[in-house]
Amino acid sequence: MPAHNSKMLRTLFERLTRSSSVVIPDQLWTSTLASLPFMLRLNADECSRLRKLASQLLSQKQMTGAAGLELTAAIQVNIAMQASLPVLNLGLDWYRGWNSIIVYPREFLVPRELTDDDGVVHQYVEPIAGEAWDGGPLLLSWEDAQQSATAGGAAYSVVMHEFAHKIDLLNGDADGVPPFSSVHKKLSTARWRRVMHDTFERFAAEVELIEAELPADLDLESDTEERYFARLPFDAYAAQDTGEFFAVSSEAFFVAPQRLRSAFPEWYALLTEFFLQNPVALHE
Ligand SMILES: [Zn+2]
Repeated sequence: MPAHNSKMLRTLFERLTRSSSVVIPDQLWTSTLASLPFMLRLNADECSRLRKLASQLLSQKQMTGAAGLELTAAIQVNIAMQASLPVLNLGLDWYRGWNSIIVYPREFLVPRELTDDDGVVHQYVEPIAGEAWDGGPLLLSWEDAQQSATAGGAAYSVVMHEFAHKIDLLNGDADGVPPFSSVHKKLSTARWRRVMHDTFERFAAEVELIEAELPADLDLESDTEERYFARLPFDAYAAQDTGEFFAVSSEAFFVAPQRLRSAFPEWYALLTEFFLQNPVALHE
């Protein structure tokens, strides 16, 4: 039985009115901020706007615990805080058109079907940390959502990754080309496509090069493999397609911006124009 969050919100948060935002307790807000190192760059004004957005997001979206997860206030605030960062200067309207967030305790199994070149249909289950359905819910693993950081590996935030897909899906396929609005004066789809495809090709070539270097007897589950990929500015999964490239780049943009900017300055600049934020500037 999924644990719907409205009861939780009624008991843990004081609702102002039916349609307005929920109130996030000070202590919970502060401890959640402290648990996400990439939030440190935000100044007091940005923090207070982030908190407002997170409160509104909690009241607008329906968050549900699945597979036995008890949806605590800490879980809800953590996810809402991470989800609000990409739209800090864009607004929650960028998450329009869907309203359900389903949270699993850990990676969950999704049934898949694949037709191979011979027309044979293969059915299997895939363990995943998150998924964004077009027009439907956004699915997350809480265990993975908590691991947002750069420690010990590539920049990681499954929350921002899935919410970036939702932005990308606003104008059709998750193809890495989000819609632009009146705040994006200098952006054009043609310029976005050119820079993104060029960067994607370079990144994918680098991934191929690393894969060619991997010793044949390498244990793919071991940490050794990670060492080979460590020279990439972000997760090799981004080489999958341009939709994943945009989602993984968005995670890296907020979690480890310096590495992204050093590797791909033009792509980084384009992302600052889209998100209306410059995460590196505040570190310097
Ligand atoms: Zn993805």
